[in-house]
Amino acid sequence: MEERDILIIGAGPAGLAAAQYGARAARRTTMIEELAPGGQALTIDSIENYPGVNKTISGYELGMQFQDQAERFGAELVYATVQSVDKDEDNFVVKTTEGEYVAPTVILCTGAKHRPLGVPGEEEYKGKGVSYCATCDGPFFRNKKILVIGGGDSACTEALYLAKLTDKVTLIHRRDRFRAQQEIADRVMRDPKITVKLQHTVESIEGDGDKVDRVVLRNLGTDEVYTEEFDAVFVFVGMIPQTSLVPEAKKDDAGYIVTTCRMETSIPGLYAAGDVRDTPFRQIVTAAADGAVAAHCASEYIDELAGRAYR
Ligand code: NAP
Repeated sequence: MEERDILIIGAGPAGLAAAQYGARAARRTTMIEELAPGGQALTIDSIENYPGVNKTISGYELGMQFQDQAERFGAELVYATVQSVDKDEDNFVVKTTEGEYVAPTVILCTGAKHRPLGVPGEEEYKGKGVSYCATCDGPFFRNKKILVIGGGDSACTEALYLAKLTDKVTLIHRRDRFRAQQEIADRVMRDPKITVKLQHTVESIEGDGDKVDRVVLRNLGTDEVYTEEFDAVFVFVGMIPQTSLVPEAKKDDAGYIVTTCRMETSIPGLYAAGDVRDTPFRQIVTAAADGAVAAHCASEYIDELAGRAYR
């Protein structure tokens, strides 16, 4: 069993920032990631709001910079799937596909995954025109007719990205205004390649069995149900936090892990940072800040356990 001071599960912006701060505090710090470092940011084509990076940068590039910086200070990145997290007195035992780790602190940075819309045809046409990632699948639908669903930052930013690939993007949202940040929503409204249909929902996604070719829509204002042709449907209707590794940790009504401002969860020694925790604003910068706070407070907790707290 490998011993560490701070184990970080997930290497998105929260995990990568936590790793840097853990390593800078001279703690043996390991991130465990099953895919690639960068998290959801990996799927973002252009990031323009990360403070201090005053140029447009891809999520991949920014993630690489986070990773290089964390590793430069001595943090370790292990590629493995975490299978369980169990508390054993003052330590956590973390079982992974690449072996077991023990550490007094764990920082959960597992983020959130896309929520499905839950309409007929969505599951059947997943990968055949239904997608949850514009940068991954958008290029397959260059100059095609694309429907985007959702009213938050994701739907609006991804609609703007897709409008670079085709001039036939339709964005529908169930309410009469967007949830997205005003600046992003304004840009959508100004984009001549995006047709916005508010107060609309999807009834079903249909096709020929191999690919999407039409969507049945409902106008909530008039209750009219009608069919429109689309080649692709991009769904951005919110996120589901990834908390299954810590079923005992306290969650809010939406399933996000409840933390203090020190990123402490209801389980001593377990911290949560980034999109997995209850926070009013989910951005790369807020995830990174969460990660820094979590690592700092985890390091203080280790001192407390050792009776060396600096007061
Ligand atoms: P979100 O903010 O939760 O928005 C989800 C949207 O989907 C809402 O407008 C919601 O409608 C709609 N929706 C939910 N269920 C639906 C259903 N069954 N049918 C139709 N519409 C449905 O999720 P998000 O846009 O993925 O963003 C997640 C977090 O990441 C947010 O904190 C966001 O700020 C952040 N983010 C930031 C950026 C950026 O800063 N550039 C980019 C992407 C994401 P209602 O409004 O009616 O609830």
